Amino acid sequence: MSYVDEVLEIVQKKNADQPEFLQAVTEVLDSLRPCIDANEELYRKNAILERITEPDRQFMFRVPWVDDKGQVQVNRGFRVQFNNAIGPYKGGLRLHPSVNLGIIKFLGFEQIFKNSLTTLPIGGGKGGSDFDPKGKSDREIMAFCQSFMTELCKYIGADVDVPAGDIGTGAREIGFMFGQYKRIRGMYEGVLTGKGLTYGGSLVRTEATGYGLLYLTQELLKCHGESMEGKTVCVSGAGNVAIYAIQKAHQLGAKCVTCSDSTGWIYDPEGIDVALLKEVKEVKRARLTEYAAARPSAQYHEGRGVWQIKCDIALPCATQNELLLDDAKQLVANGCKAVCEGANMPTTLDATKYLQENGVWFVGGKAANAGGVATSALEMSQNSERLSWTFEEVDAKLQNIMVTIYHNIDDAAKRYGVEGDYVAGANIAGFEKVVEAMLAQGVC
Ligand code: NDP
Repeated sequence: MSYVDEVLEIVQKKNADQPEFLQAVTEVLDSLRPCIDANEELYRKNAILERITEPDRQFMFRVPWVDDKGQVQVNRGFRVQFNNAIGPYKGGLRLHPSVNLGIIKFLGFEQIFKNSLTTLPIGGGKGGSDFDPKGKSDREIMAFCQSFMTELCKYIGADVDVPAGDIGTGAREIGFMFGQYKRIRGMYEGVLTGKGLTYGGSLVRTEATGYGLLYLTQELLKCHGESMEGKTVCVSGAGNVAIYAIQKAHQLGAKCVTCSDSTGWIYDPEGIDVALLKEVKEVKRARLTEYAAARPSAQYHEGRGVWQIKCDIALPCATQNELLLDDAKQLVANGCKAVCEGANMPTTLDATKYLQENGVWFVGGKAANAGGVATSALEMSQNSERLSWTFEEVDAKLQNIMVTIYHNIDDAAKRYGVEGDYVAGANIAGFEKVVEAMLAQGVC
């Protein structure tokens, strides 16, 4: 039996009640096979796979807080510190009723490789709680965040573990948590990222994922003898990632003709008006029907459908499983050249396979949307230096990072005989760096 299959069996036995974690480990190890098979003896002797699939440690704790009626509520808090071979643990805090240990472990495991890919010194971790922020008052959110941090602060620190936002944890929650950490530990340090600009946050963090996606896409095209200039782009989503992806695509000379939200989508052959889209989504928090009402060239359609529009480049930036096999077929039939994922897991496995088999350059989210976490790591650097870099400085570093990521994943795929498979390339490039550090640091 191969080393990968042997370890998958062990992981399955040990974590039978954690389907999301098992799925993530299976998918990652499967795509690493060319690299693991080539180094089987060394990795087996050092139990690399057994070690990398077992978190360094995991914390589960009670989070009691008082609601607006005076009733005590109890949630469960988590922090999984998965692997710190290349730097302090880093990963978001998810606040959602679906959160459990298996989900946090799955996210923490994936984070190891994504963080490694950024080229910056950050390890992998993840945390959160089954607390549901929906419908809670500001006071209730603060009560929860303070209680959560009262326990979490024992395990984190600027050089130990630096959590960030994730689903349900935005600027407001990060602010409340940062305040409580400071109060209990008496230390003003960059222990969280995603902070407000007045207390240690970084410029470009808001734009980072969308801009980074375009920097990587631009490099991908350049290396295939093409450019963004004059290209037609289809984007899905109308949130943080989508808005700044569209903005940067336009700056690079392309034309984005679509966007979408959870109820409908826009086709605007004149190109999406980013200022109007920001007004509708960031300021008014309204539906896309308002965009169409204010823009004569735009057509609004109910439901989903952006991928039926003819384009050179498709950038799914909304949510998971939003680009299906039929969409992939339509994109190929329309001559689409590249698909780069702004969202996490927007393309289903069969759609990914179809795109790859039909010559579309496909870059998965692990590499293509890494600009967000990379800029969080730049926030850590600025906090350590006690300096704030200008927008241009952070943007230049982000661009450099995304170009390097592209070349690293391209090289890794070539070295293991899977040229052009940027999904395998991303997993291999992220994995290799972590393993090299683990081997250098001995048995730990
Ligand atoms: P937002 O919540 O800001 O935006 C998500 C957008 O997608 C919204 O416009 C939403 O519509 C739309 N949407 C949700 N569900 C659907 C659907 N079923 N069909 C079409 N549109 C839909 O999130 P972000 O932009 O921050 O994140 C988008 C994706 O990118 C997520 O997968 C996230 O995990 C990933 N990501 C984000 C990073 C970041 O820095 N923000 C970093 C790395 C990954 P509506 O307006 O109706 O809610």
